[in-house]
Amino acid sequence: MTLHPTSPHFKKNAARALGDAELQVALSKVKRGFIDKRVAAAARLPEFEALRDQARDIKNHTLAHLDLYLERYEEKVTASGGHVHFARTAAEARDIVLAICREAGARTVTKGKSMIAEEIGLNAHLEAAGITPVETDLGEYIIQLRGEPPSHIIAPAVHVNATQVEQDFRRVHKGLDEKRDLSEPVKLLAEARAVLRERFLAADVGITGANFLVAETGTSIIVTNEGNGDLTQILPKTHIVLASIEKVVPTLEDVCQIIRVLARSATGQDMSVYTTLSTGPRRPGDLDGPENYHVIILDNGRSSMLNTNFQDMLRCIRCGACMNHCPVYQAVGGHAYGWVYPGPMGAVLTPSLIGVDKAGHLPNASTFCGRCESVCPVRIPLPKMMRHWREREFERHLSPAAMRSGLAFWGFFARRPALYTLAMRFAVSALALVGRSRGRFQRLPLASGWTAGRDFPAPQGGTFQAQWRRERRRSVG
Ligand code: SF4
Repeated sequence: MTLHPTSPHFKKNAARALGDAELQVALSKVKRGFIDKRVAAAARLPEFEALRDQARDIKNHTLAHLDLYLERYEEKVTASGGHVHFARTAAEARDIVLAICREAGARTVTKGKSMIAEEIGLNAHLEAAGITPVETDLGEYIIQLRGEPPSHIIAPAVHVNATQVEQDFRRVHKGLDEKRDLSEPVKLLAEARAVLRERFLAADVGITGANFLVAETGTSIIVTNEGNGDLTQILPKTHIVLASIEKVVPTLEDVCQIIRVLARSATGQDMSVYTTLSTGPRRPGDLDGPENYHVIILDNGRSSMLNTNFQDMLRCIRCGACMNHCPVYQAVGGHAYGWVYPGPMGAVLTPSLIGVDKAGHLPNASTFCGRCESVCPVRIPLPKMMRHWREREFERHLSPAAMRSGLAFWGFFARRPALYTLAMRFAVSALALVGRSRGRFQRLPLASGWTAGRDFPAPQGGTFQAQWRRERRRSVG
C-alpha cells in the first residue's frame, strides 16, 4: 500500500467509493459522531480558542528550532539509557527496525497504532523477514485481518461495520465456536481481547508510535483509549518508538497545553483514556518496562518542507478533525486518497512526501469550504496550502491540458477588467436567454463534467458583479 500509492487513481477510487453502499452507511456515522462531540467538548472549555493559539505557537516555535530540540531530545534519551536512530528515508527506518528485531531474536512483534509504521510499510517488511507483526489497536487489528490499510488516522476501521468484523473474526480466529454470539460490538471486543492477550504475552518486541517526543526529558508520549499501547511497550523486552521529526516539543508543560486541544478535536473527549509517558528502558527498582529502548525518528521528506509554503503542515498533531469535517472525505472515505494520510491533511502532506506528480489529484479534491482550517486545533491553513499545490501543478504542467487552457482563457480576461465585465455580461445574458424556459441546462458545452451529474442552473439577476453593486447601493442607501 505505502510502496504503491493509488493516489494517481483518486478519481477512479472516489467513483468506486461513492457507489459502495456499505461504505456510505459507515461514513454517515463519521458525520454524526465526531462532529457533534467536538462541538460539545469545545463548548465545555471557555479557553478552547486561546488554547488553539497556544498550541499553534508552541509548534511554530519548535519548528523554528527543530534541530536544537531534536538534539536535546537525543541527548536526554541517551542519558536515560535508550538509543535514538535518525532515518532519512522510509527504507532506512524499515532497516533499522528490522536490525533491532533481529538483534532481539524476535519472531513476533506487537504494534500499537502508528501512522509512521504505515508510512514506511513496516508490516510487509517484517513479514518478508519472517517476523509476525500483530496490530493491537482494535481498529488496526480489524484491518490487518482484512488486509486493508487504515481509512482514517484515528479510526482506522471506520469504514467497516460490525457484521463485517464478525465475519472476519469467524474466518480468522481458529477454534471460535460457531454458536458463539458476536452480534454486538461489546462481544466482538471481548473476542478480540482474548485473542490479543496471548499475542501480547508472546511478543519479543513492541512497537509504538508517539504523539509527542519531549526534548527536556527524552520522553515519548502516546495517547490512546484502549490501553493496548501500554501493554505493547511494557511487556516485551524491547520497545521501539516510531516517530517523525516534527513530533518533538520542548517541554512537558508544552505537551500539557497541546493535549488539551488534541482529544477534544479528535474524539470530543476532554482527555483520552490513557496518556502514557516512557523515558528510556526499565531502571533498577522499576516494576515493569523494557530492557531495551529505541526511538527511530523519520524525516522522509519533512525537512524539505521547512521554510517553504508547506512548513505549517508540520504543526499537525494528527487529530483527524479536518477529515471528519471535510465534505469530500465524508463522501469518499479515506481509501480513495490512495496513501497513508487521507482528507485535507493528506491532500497537503501526501504531495510533500510522495511527490505532487503522484498525488496531484488530492489538493484538487477540495471545495475550499474552509471547514478543515476552521476546526484544526493548531490552525493549519489547509486550503491555502492546497492552493499552493495547485499552483505548483500548473507551473510544472501537471494539470490537464483542458484545465490549463481554460485557466489561460480566464486569465486573459481577468487581467483586463473592463473586457472581463463586458464578456461576463454577454455570457450571462446569453445563458439566461437560452435557459429561460426550463430554468436550467441538462447539457452545456465546456461544462459536461458538471452536467453529467447534475443540471446547470440558468443565471438569474445578471452577473455577480452587477448584483454585488446593487446590494451595496441598497445597504449604503
Ligand atoms: S491538519 Fe489539523 S485538523 Fe487535520 S489532523 Fe492535523 S491537526 Fe488535526
